[in-house]
Amino acid sequence: VSRESHRHDSVIDVGGIPIGGNQVQIIGGPCSVETQEQMDLSAENVYTAGCRLMRGGAFKPRTSPYTFQGNGEEGLKMFRNAADKYNLRIVTELMDARMLDTFLKYDVDVIQIGTRSMQNFELLKEVGRINKPVILKRGMSATISEWLMAAEYIAAGGNHNIIFCERGIRTFETAYRNVLDVTCIPVLKKETHLPVIVDPSHAGGKAWMVPALARAAIAAGADGLLVETHPNPCDAWCDADQALNPQEFESLMGSLKGIAGVI
Ligand code: PEP
Ligand code: MN
Repeated sequence: VSRESHRHDSVIDVGGIPIGGNQVQIIGGPCSVETQEQMDLSAENVYTAGCRLMRGGAFKPRTSPYTFQGNGEEGLKMFRNAADKYNLRIVTELMDARMLDTFLKYDVDVIQIGTRSMQNFELLKEVGRINKPVILKRGMSATISEWLMAAEYIAAGGNHNIIFCERGIRTFETAYRNVLDVTCIPVLKKETHLPVIVDPSHAGGKAWMVPALARAAIAAGADGLLVETHPNPCDAWCDADQALNPQEFESLMGSLKGIAGVI
């Protein structure tokens, strides 16, 4: 993944939509796939706001085993169904390599590897064997060099369609969920030719912090954003505090225009 072997910026093709290069791509959508109606409304919102890619988790890595764990395969089905109505590419988290065939069955466009799985080396090797684009989130306590080496596990298998995603790291600070490491953006852009995106939602953990972090990330050179949205955040089954409602998301999209070539 190093620039030594590949000097120019790589552009990852996600079903005809480029990630990396001169354009900035915003991926919006809920933390979790809840119902078909929630997914249809989310898809309509992210599409109208100008997105071409949508996020949503069907398999959720929850801290407590007693909270909602995701709708599983049924969730993938609802997600695909909603996204197809608006011609959106889908991004969803894979936690277990045994579900890979199911992900391929629903034609998941981008496989997300979550912060908790960044060093699940067997999982990384499995997604390295296919050629689907992968979003590799940074481990919440991972150094940049550990993160780059995790990406090598995917690349070593032959899959070079890797997108790095900074989502905030753990520090002593408790005023927000994680600390968005803006500094990693220029460092990563220097070290790797692959695209770097930022998830301001899991960094701040509060909806009101998301626009400021999103703009900072783009201004610092990020190739895109992964943002949590919900048709009605108060009712979200997971990460309700950090989801933007449709109006907030559209206003964020508007405010990004004018920073670093956002479409
Ligand atoms: C998510 O994107 O919904 C998620 C669980 O993120 P992270 O792995 O960064 O916590
Ligand atoms: Mn979430």
